[in-house]
Amino acid sequence: MSSTKQTIAFIGLGIMGRPMAINLVKAGFDVVGFNLEPAAIEAVAAAGGRGAGNIAEAVKGADVIAVMVPDSPDVELVLTGEDGVFDNAREGALVIDFSTILPDVSRRMAEVGAARGLRVLDAPVSGGEAGAIEGSLSIMVGGTAEDFALGAPVFDAVGATIVHVGPSGSGQTVKAANQLIVAGNIELLAEAIVFLEAHHVDTEAAVKVLGGGLAGSTVLQRKAGNMLSRNFAPGFRIALHHKDMGIVTNAAREAGVVIPLGAAVAQLIASLNAQGHGGLDHSALFKSVEELSGRAGESHTS
Ligand code: NAD
Repeated sequence: MSSTKQTIAFIGLGIMGRPMAINLVKAGFDVVGFNLEPAAIEAVAAAGGRGAGNIAEAVKGADVIAVMVPDSPDVELVLTGEDGVFDNAREGALVIDFSTILPDVSRRMAEVGAARGLRVLDAPVSGGEAGAIEGSLSIMVGGTAEDFALGAPVFDAVGATIVHVGPSGSGQTVKAANQLIVAGNIELLAEAIVFLEAHHVDTEAAVKVLGGGLAGSTVLQRKAGNMLSRNFAPGFRIALHHKDMGIVTNAAREAGVVIPLGAAVAQLIASLNAQGHGGLDHSALFKSVEELSGRAGESHTS
């Protein structure tokens, strides 16, 4: 078994990367983790993986290199920076970028990687921290069908709904649409809960019945509780959703597509970010609805 074990370097062990790396250990991969904050490297080692002191050390000899860092410049640095992945990966290695970044950066990374004899997939995910812990993420993959097939054992270890959506960059375009839908859902859920509280309705009962009808959604299941309890610990940080609304509004503009509600929610997320709430969970859109309604700080018991 150990001689056939695939080695995976995992770069970026934050809210998402850390549980994903641990699920890969559980699935039997030899996982070598690297992260800017060393505590997460220790957590992966404690779960049965190994730690590395830098990207070059993590990547040497790896069959697969997984990346899960915040933004486009981070991915560019990790892949093409000095002592980065492309300088140190063995020829033919599969690079899976799980981060959510600009589609054209993904396309460029795939081209640069291919010129160096590497296979590169963009594979952004949805399902949040809970999905990462459960290993039930939705994964939207861009790249060649051959490379997608090669990545299947890795995807199966971290995800439940895994779809090849087209050539390089397509995964990111689908993820941009995902973020548009999620942002709109969260905003309307926040508006509904502020509305219900203002009418002194039993909000827990209301959320329960709403969840069984057409208004039900994964957003409602996973985020209503944060709003009712005013617990906005991330989860998915406002700063990251602000990045993603930039991606989708740019991509819509490039395609000549108008997204009026998306643009409005993008502004509300930008406002929270500008007010210093970038570190809160995106369910904190609730705070801005409360403030706009002059209800911030009001007692919320019904
Ligand atoms: P995070 O900030 O919790 O983690 C990012 C990690 O990357 C940090 O631990 C940091 O140390 C590491 N990192 C950054 N630059 C690095 C470098 N040069 N070398 C090594 N490590 C580096 O972010 P997250 O919430 O895990 O999100 C990661 C990506 O996943 C983002 O693109 C985000 O949009 C996307 N995403 C997040 C969620 C979520 O619910 N949190 C859901 C789906 C997708």
